[in-house]
Amino acid sequence: MSKTIQSIRGMHDVLPDDSHQWQAFEQIVRDLMAVYGYREIRMPAVESMDLFSRSIGEVTDIVEKEMYSFEDRNGDMLTLRPEGTAGCVRAGIQHGILHNQVQRLWYMGPMFRHERPQKGRYRQFHQFGVETFGIADPDIDAELIIMTARLWRMLQLEDIRLELNTLGSNEARAKYREILLDYLNANRDQLDEDSIRRLDSNPLRILDSKNPEMKSMISSAPSLLEYLDTESAEDFERMKQYLDDAGIEYTINPKLVRGLDYYCKTVFEWVTDQLGAQGTVCAGGRYDGLVEQLGGRSTPAAGFALGIERLLAMREAANIEVPQGHPDIYLLLQGESSSRKGLPLAEKLRDENPGLNVLSNCGGGSFKSQMKKADKSGASIALILGENEIAEDAVTVKFLREQKQQQTISQSEISKFLKNNQV
Ligand code: ATP
Ligand code: MG
Repeated sequence: MSKTIQSIRGMHDVLPDDSHQWQAFEQIVRDLMAVYGYREIRMPAVESMDLFSRSIGEVTDIVEKEMYSFEDRNGDMLTLRPEGTAGCVRAGIQHGILHNQVQRLWYMGPMFRHERPQKGRYRQFHQFGVETFGIADPDIDAELIIMTARLWRMLQLEDIRLELNTLGSNEARAKYREILLDYLNANRDQLDEDSIRRLDSNPLRILDSKNPEMKSMISSAPSLLEYLDTESAEDFERMKQYLDDAGIEYTINPKLVRGLDYYCKTVFEWVTDQLGAQGTVCAGGRYDGLVEQLGGRSTPAAGFALGIERLLAMREAANIEVPQGHPDIYLLLQGESSSRKGLPLAEKLRDENPGLNVLSNCGGGSFKSQMKKADKSGASIALILGENEIAEDAVTVKFLREQKQQQTISQSEISKFLKNNQV
């Protein structure tokens, strides 16, 4: 026998016994977006490679080593999207829905990064993301954070804490860059290979390093907060005020710089200690320069993205029960013409009882094996359609979870009977 084909490393199936967890999560997200007045946008999973190098930044983990890029049959360089912001901005510019408008948008779907697979880190993973355009005031930054805090409550998750920082304006960051460079050069012997490479291109990203050996050197580095421009400093104060007013707790982490180039001013992460090294569940911030950088007219923007697998792992660890759906009715089909009569009967039941979940026993089988399947399906009622029932235009009702008498009912009365029995 030839070897069976397996899924790609780091890319996982969601099996039918687990998909209800995803559906419950997705429903919560849709409900959340509805109550805040955000609208869904759906972008393609494949974009031009340039889109990501121009937005995320050349000297970032994603663009340097994580993208799935390939040449298609036309010779165009394409990339499986590693994140949603770039595509969302691209779509917004292309369709003219950003300039001089306010947009509050969300999306959900698979993202692709060629990382080392481990718990909480996959090559195909899923994000729910939100992007807002046209609002310069930090009240929208606060709304995004307040909204995610509500999401944790809706997901029944605890132990997720908020870390905040501001990256200031581009000018303030440029000034700080020089100061940081002096410090890093003075501590060059403590930098790892990645960081030495970044020294020239993007020294701020060194602060984001996950290498534990650099931790203490990084924590003693000069803080960006001391070099902030007035506007960013004032905006940051106001945003903190909005969060205080809303009762949201946070800690300021001056080393929080985020792995992507396009952020400015507010950046934030929601982190948990429950997931080991993969502790960031949600990350976002302001990216006022990105729309212009991608060829649109200058538009203020802020957003976040969260990792669905990590949040589902937290829900699983917290033993949050999501009931798995089951059929209301299992229809047993016995004898020669039962399938011909049974499939229309199942349709009639679905027509007359909107929402009723009817599972027909297709494929035949003995009465005993069909009953076993009925029981295993979780249905509360088995309907039996055999030769006697067909002769009488009737169907036999057997209660599977209650001590009630079995009854044979006329097919014209069956829907009424089910309603009376609250099926
Ligand atoms: P990390 O520091 O964990 O690599 P990141 O900064 O690369 O995260 P973002 O690009 O900000 O992550 O993506 C937002 C969120 O998406 C992350 O906080 C995380 O929850 C999730 N995420 C990112 N990469 C992965 C991955 N490879 N597998 C699963 N979830 C991921
Ligand atoms: Mg990453």
